[in-house]
Amino acid sequence: MLSQESAVSVPLVSMKDMLQKAKKENYAVGQFNINGLDFAQSFLQAAQEEQAPIILAASDRLVDYLGGFQVIASMVKNLMEEMKITVPVALHLDHGMSVERCKKAIDAGFTSVMIDGSHGPIDQNIAMTKEVVAYAREKGVSVEAEVGTVGGQEDGLIGGIQYADPEECVQIVKEAGIDALAAALGSVHGPYQGEPKLGFEEMKQIAELTDVPLVLHGGSGIPLHQIQKAIELGHAKINVNTESIQAWTKAVRETLDANHNVYEPRAILTPAKSAVMKAVKSKMREFNTSGKA
Ligand SMILES: [Zn+2]
Repeated sequence: MLSQESAVSVPLVSMKDMLQKAKKENYAVGQFNINGLDFAQSFLQAAQEEQAPIILAASDRLVDYLGGFQVIASMVKNLMEEMKITVPVALHLDHGMSVERCKKAIDAGFTSVMIDGSHGPIDQNIAMTKEVVAYAREKGVSVEAEVGTVGGQEDGLIGGIQYADPEECVQIVKEAGIDALAAALGSVHGPYQGEPKLGFEEMKQIAELTDVPLVLHGGSGIPLHQIQKAIELGHAKINVNTESIQAWTKAVRETLDANHNVYEPRAILTPAKSAVMKAVKSKMREFNTSGKA
């Protein structure tokens, strides 16, 4: 019998090197949001099969629902070991609501955090971000900040589109020393109504003024040509949630509609896992991440 011992899983990494490499080589790493154990399994399996680096994220507004920071971190770490995952994986806190919440995530083993100070004035945003960076840096954890407001609605986070001011972007990158910047430029959380209107002029300006990898929030439902242009203009991370939860829900609904006697969770969730995996793989190919591990 051949031993299976040769495939040894690797520990979680921060987004720092992952995003620098992506920016240099002109692709984007997908961030996929965990909505339960089965999502984490699907994401990891898709990444391993595509040989793609991946960012698994927990939205701060879902952390309690998912069982808390410790549960999420142990779940991902243990899955990686059980599944013998060898591609680079970062565990990220999406839209961290406060400095304290970011610190809690870091203490629990998250390797990356986003501090979302975009709802207050820029000086306050920078001060919060600096505090998180100081705490994260000594632990090798990467930090993402946001300027401007992503539109739409997700997990109870509601925003009207507000374009990021390029000057404020420069200021936060220089003063806070972040690893990634979400400059809101017309994207929305949740489904789009009509074709997205991304601010490519501002994007170009921000990319020229700062050297930091950019993050595109609301990456579900953006046409491929706009995705490619965003990558060309410095986006190294694209966040996807809506498309994977829509794929999950569609599969669950189909299974339930097709057989009114079905009641076993495994019978209902197995097709949903495959549907999520398929959706994730298709995003990885769109973002040109496949084979980049
Ligand atoms: Zn977001």
